[in-house]
Amino acid sequence: MIERLALIGLGLIGGSLSLALKKQGLVGEVVGYSRQLQTRLRAFELGLIDRPVDSVAEAVRGADVVFIATPVQAMASVFAELAPVLAPNALITDGGSVKGNVVAAARAALSSVQFGQFVPGHPIAGTERSGPDAAFATLFVDHRVILTPTSANTSAVIERAVALWQAVGAQVEQMPVQHHDHVLAATSHLPHLAAFGLVSALSRLEERYEVFRYAAGGFRDFSRIASSDPQMWRDICVANRDELLPMLDHYLDELQLLRRLIDAGDSVGVERVFADAKAVRDVLYRPALTETAYQAE
Ligand code: NAP
Repeated sequence: MIERLALIGLGLIGGSLSLALKKQGLVGEVVGYSRQLQTRLRAFELGLIDRPVDSVAEAVRGADVVFIATPVQAMASVFAELAPVLAPNALITDGGSVKGNVVAAARAALSSVQFGQFVPGHPIAGTERSGPDAAFATLFVDHRVILTPTSANTSAVIERAVALWQAVGAQVEQMPVQHHDHVLAATSHLPHLAAFGLVSALSRLEERYEVFRYAAGGFRDFSRIASSDPQMWRDICVANRDELLPMLDHYLDELQLLRRLIDAGDSVGVERVFADAKAVRDVLYRPALTETAYQAE
């Protein structure tokens, strides 16, 4: 049971965690802060928070759990603002999609004791929608949440973060920070980059209107995640560039290989690449798994 939850960032992830905890009757009061007044008021109107406040410090003062769900590059200033008012036994956790830069920001802004109160996390659940209106209570049910505890965390504080996510139906796993950023660069950050890049490239064609008029289901499937929030994905790509760029180069090598095979009219070679890819994807997304996989960003 959480007496007071401080929610910093009132969009899809923060709002959904609050709704899920409220639905389970696990939280007394949710005090919320986000950058814009209109977002705070909308979150209040939708019942995501019980009390909107005008600063990070006001939200965090007296809270026993602090959840940070802003874009990742905004988290450094959030840690700096919360440090002077954080209660000694409060748990801090976050939902940021990159962990290396968030952990570095926390280490820089918090005292060593406070840094031990911070258990970094990342829910592997989401949609391409954002803002308070996108939040829903069942977002995390049967989805993975990856925690990346640091050496400053005690097993007791890690257990509190695990219990928080399990209470909203998530399956909790743990992995080292750098490993998280490496794996997520491949499975999430690169696909978003590819989707944004494809739609951007086509939109710059002179014949773009005709191209988009004839875009069919395949284009819709592939490009869906290019409707995701640009600020959030800008932050993720820049924050995780050390892991993302080698992954992008690897992908570009594959596209270059396909380009060479097609240029040479090498039907056998092209088919071999496609057949290998199809075999992998067919195993990954057997029909029964499709719906879950589709939702897991
Ligand atoms: P979102 O719906 O866009 O919500 C972000 C919230 O952060 C908004 O309430 C925004 O408020 C607030 N915010 C932005 N800059 C801020 C600042 N400087 N100080 C305080 N508040 C600020 O985004 P989201 O999808 O919930 O994502 C939140 C976090 O979860 C991100 O770190 C993201 O990487 C991670 N995540 C996202 C997904 C996904 O699929 N969407 C999945 C897993 C993890 P204003 O409107 O007032 O600016």
